[in-house]
Amino acid sequence: MTSQFGPSYVRAIAPYIAGKPISEVAREFGLDAATIVKLASNENPFGMPESAKLAIAQAMGELGRYPDANGFDLKAALSERYGVPADWITLGNGSNDILEMAAHAFVEKDQSIVYSQYSFAVYALATQGLGARAIVVPAVAYGHDLEAMLAAISGDTRLVFVANPNNPTGTFIDGPTLEAFIARVPRDVAIVLDEAYTEYLAKDKRYDAIGWVRRYPNLLVSRTFSKAFGLAGLRVGFAIAQPELTDLLNRLRQPFNVNSLAQAAAIAALNDTAFLEKSAAVNAAGYRRLTEAFDKLGLEYVPSDGNFVMVRVGDDDEAGARVNLELLKQGVIVRPVANYGLMPWLRVTIGLPEENEAFIAALEKTLATA
Ligand code: PMP
Repeated sequence: MTSQFGPSYVRAIAPYIAGKPISEVAREFGLDAATIVKLASNENPFGMPESAKLAIAQAMGELGRYPDANGFDLKAALSERYGVPADWITLGNGSNDILEMAAHAFVEKDQSIVYSQYSFAVYALATQGLGARAIVVPAVAYGHDLEAMLAAISGDTRLVFVANPNNPTGTFIDGPTLEAFIARVPRDVAIVLDEAYTEYLAKDKRYDAIGWVRRYPNLLVSRTFSKAFGLAGLRVGFAIAQPELTDLLNRLRQPFNVNSLAQAAAIAALNDTAFLEKSAAVNAAGYRRLTEAFDKLGLEYVPSDGNFVMVRVGDDDEAGARVNLELLKQGVIVRPVANYGLMPWLRVTIGLPEENEAFIAALEKTLATA
């Protein structure tokens, strides 16, 4: 049905495709939900930390009231952790909310936004949602081509999105290279540096993006509690930027965009360094295990610095869908990335050791019978 409602640029949007929920796969394939392994949405396989569960239990009594619209306590905790004033912080309903807010706050309809091919799908959605022009810069080795992105910035460009590490490809730009890029972006062009996976970086790859925020008034760093902190279902993310950009976000932010339970849990998770360290360590071991298995199977993969890996499961354009279906039948949910134009590839989230083994076994079986 062709609708005449809404702007043409909204009608042109292909909606975001999320990872399949366990309950849906259980229904569709007649499987016991308890046996299904979901490695499709880059969630923390440990689930929510116990510290956050306790904080939620304590916050339950106040659910009849609205949340703190300013997120005072959470911002205070973030301010202390990252060494920035509280008025440099914006809270979001997930970092997805931050990305959308930034696009709406910094860009007008018909101006342009620059981002990389194969970078996180929400950049395209946010761009299309406001009727702005997307300048999509071809990727190099599945990652950002920063030189080409600089060259692509045009007179009407108001925003550049950079994901580091990037989803779905897992590619990573080292700190010095990234800062050199940021320094060369014109000062009237905002940069959203999306660091959803930054807590998974190996120690020798970490860099100080918050320090850059102090030096570059056009830089906004976006972070999330959905991945390493284990709170995906609660929806909490945040932005750190100087007041000029932060003030703009706050004009658009829905007053109660982060609910009370999410605020309480995020404070607990932020302080739970043991959980964070365990999550990163298990992720690193899982990455080694998965990539060893891919090597053994002779499968190409893109080296990843996130909590997921993109693996090429065949040569033809049907390969991703075909292998994905066989994995689903065996109760393993991963993520096809055909919507990125990466037809023969699948993205698998790194899980607990037994989940990784279940995936590897299902993949081996599928490829052996293909
Ligand atoms: N940025 C990137 C690169 C992501 O992969 C994701 C999650 N898929 C997000 C942002 C948004 O996550 P959330 O809204 O849960 O913070």
